[in-house]
Amino acid sequence: MENYCIVEPRYERMGYRRAGRSGILLSEVSLGFWHNFGADAEYDVCKAIVHTAFDNGVTYMDLANNYGPPAGSGEETFGRIYYESFRSHRDEMIIATKAGHDMWPGPYGEWSSRKNLIASLDQSLHRMRLDYVDIFYSHRPDPNTPLEETLQTLVDIVRQGKALYVGISKYPPSMAAAAYDYLEREHVHCLLYQGRYNMFTREHETEILPQAGDRGVGYVAFSPLAQGLLTNRYLHGIPEGSRMTKSKFLRPDSLTPDLLDKIDRLDRMASRRGQSLAQMALAWDLRLPEVTSVIIGASSVAQLEDNLKAREHLDFTSDELYEIDQILGNNPLAEKCCSH
Ligand code: NDP
Repeated sequence: MENYCIVEPRYERMGYRRAGRSGILLSEVSLGFWHNFGADAEYDVCKAIVHTAFDNGVTYMDLANNYGPPAGSGEETFGRIYYESFRSHRDEMIIATKAGHDMWPGPYGEWSSRKNLIASLDQSLHRMRLDYVDIFYSHRPDPNTPLEETLQTLVDIVRQGKALYVGISKYPPSMAAAAYDYLEREHVHCLLYQGRYNMFTREHETEILPQAGDRGVGYVAFSPLAQGLLTNRYLHGIPEGSRMTKSKFLRPDSLTPDLLDKIDRLDRMASRRGQSLAQMALAWDLRLPEVTSVIIGASSVAQLEDNLKAREHLDFTSDELYEIDQILGNNPLAEKCCSH
């Protein structure tokens, strides 16, 4: 007996964008499981977050083998929630996982050999209690494994029916181009490129995003809130329990006076737009047609609800975009943007 009660009309609450040249529409806002869903997280909060996401039309759930802590527990938490609440809604969800980062001891527990990818996906399916995933990603470029070995494994995984689509993450442009070519030749179009894209990290604007657009590959942006920096979370100090107090991926020394000043100015600008900073940061990512979806993280239902409201004001005037570029500074694209 499942314990999820359908909330209608959930699909009217969300916008959907096509992932490149494909049949797949993704929710503009997606839910990521990197943090906040490990064994240390409160299960009832995790479950409430996933329920709220689904209630609001979020269809895309982004996981990876190593999400936790400990590695694997993010998928286990999702698997339990899925089993308890969403088994009869499987066909309404796009569930993704990845392999490539450090996962189990020994020479086969990381990177992107055929051995690693196939074993890892089997483990992920077991943890998530699924027969197949919708998307399987190569999580990072592997400098030592021949690219053909990794890509042919992705193709074989699709042929085996264990994944419907494949994607790549964090590949540099030349490797991404080679991957798109290889997969196309094998008639397994690359559905998505997953990369870090937010106001503070704009490198992908120059090559990766236009390349994905040209090649008919969708782009999903991870850490669109710069792990919480692009919200009001750190405006008045470092709150107990925040990511900065417990994750090695977000260090207190990143919070320089210069960065805080930028966050403060962006926050004031968001208020003028009638939005929270988090909402403005997500809307800003979604201003680009190449961006199919923003994958957010949330440690509470309130954060998720705040983020979902980004969709209420997605438009920017050219003056607003110019102002953002000025606040961010040192941006080679600022001149180009303001000339439009
Ligand atoms: P975000 O940039 O959205 O950061 C999420 C964090 O920001 C939350 O944990 C929370 O921090 C804070 N936050 C979120 N919303 C609000 C709000 N409205 N107000 C205040 N604070 C808020 O994303 P993540 O860095 O978590 O990445 C999202 C997903 O992207 C991951 O879960 C994963 O699926 C994917 N990803 C993929 C990678 C890859 O290599 N392919 C790498 C990294 C991420 P707090 O916990 O302090 O409350």
